[in-house]
Amino acid sequence: MPLDLQATAAVRRRMQRTVREDNAFEREVRSLLFGRGFRYRIHYPLPGMKRTTCDVAFPGLRIAVFLDGCFWHGCTAHPPSVKKNTEFWLEKIDRNRARDARATAHLAALGWTVLRFWEHETAEDIAGAITSAVSCTKAS
Ligand SMILES: [Zn+2]
Repeated sequence: MPLDLQATAAVRRRMQRTVREDNAFEREVRSLLFGRGFRYRIHYPLPGMKRTTCDVAFPGLRIAVFLDGCFWHGCTAHPPSVKKNTEFWLEKIDRNRARDARATAHLAALGWTVLRFWEHETAEDIAGAITSAVSCTKAS
């Protein structure tokens, strides 16, 4: 295998591992929510879109939370710095963004509240926003 492709394969494996594993960012947000007494589902398959999951869900309240990694979801504040196979990565990120948009539109059409947060936001801010959304939904 040419050196360039070997490097790509290694990078791809690392990235896939990062995606599959519960990352620290997700765990931090979840533990704050848990500490506030919330009970929720994690990696919840979206209704009617079973192959896509949201990171945290309150199915009874129809609230879906997505905790988006800056690299994978194409955060504009943190553009990806990929030196090799740039096109491959940018296309992949584009596909992720398109899928994110489809998932958001799909859930909204079903009457769900969709909350999306970036990895670069603080876990406290995110937990605060989720807390407000849950209280509002419960009150209404
Ligand atoms: Zn970011």
